[in-house]
Amino acid sequence: MKYAVISDIHANLEALNAVIDYCVKKKVDKYVCLGDIVGYGANPVECIKKIKSLKGIVLVGNHDHAAIGITDITFFNSHARAAVEWTRDALSEKDVKFLTDLPFVAYEGDMTLVHACLDSPEMWHYVLNDTEAAKNIELLDSLLCFIGHSHVPCLFQEHYNSKALFDFMTQFTISEKTIINVGSVGQPRDGDPRASFVIYDTDSKLVSFERIDYDIKTAQQKIIKAGLPKILATRLSIGK
Ligand code: ZN
Repeated sequence: MKYAVISDIHANLEALNAVIDYCVKKKVDKYVCLGDIVGYGANPVECIKKIKSLKGIVLVGNHDHAAIGITDITFFNSHARAAVEWTRDALSEKDVKFLTDLPFVAYEGDMTLVHACLDSPEMWHYVLNDTEAAKNIELLDSLLCFIGHSHVPCLFQEHYNSKALFDFMTQFTISEKTIINVGSVGQPRDGDPRASFVIYDTDSKLVSFERIDYDIKTAQQKIIKAGLPKILATRLSIGK
């Protein structure tokens, strides 16, 4: 069975559509969305609708909770805060209910799924290095844990220098407990502006990190037209 694991769409409909079109061609069987459907981009409502239509597994992210008033946005930077306030006004009652009901963690086959981290999912801690990853691997009851949140795709295993491994490989056959950050569909931050996600084949245990071009210009024009901070448009071109 082939899963597409996507995260951090951030209301970027152009990126989401491009990813789904690719997954359809690749004959993906089921979709997992690790959260942050909204925030930053200009199409939160359309992205929620699209994600619902996939009928897959959907988890909550910190920007989803911020948009519906659950997460405190005092510590968000000014651009993120402006985006949260804009998004709040855009969402319908139905959208708010949908985001409210999303779980923090889900389990499916040999996968554990969470937006940020396993040690305290509701605190949105980042897993950025081997030390933080080791803490999370200890808590892991399954072979794989898929995460998002940092917008930087990477992989952590107990017995490897994960960073070095990831620098020259995009496909991994998984045989030990592994944490995989799938990167961001709608606002990548690793210097590569293409949409980032993962396809996981449960039969071969093969994880493929994917990068897909999409219509960045249109996404940027929509952000400007919506009156959102200009930096949210410009950063999409550089993937930062
Ligand atoms: Zn995010």
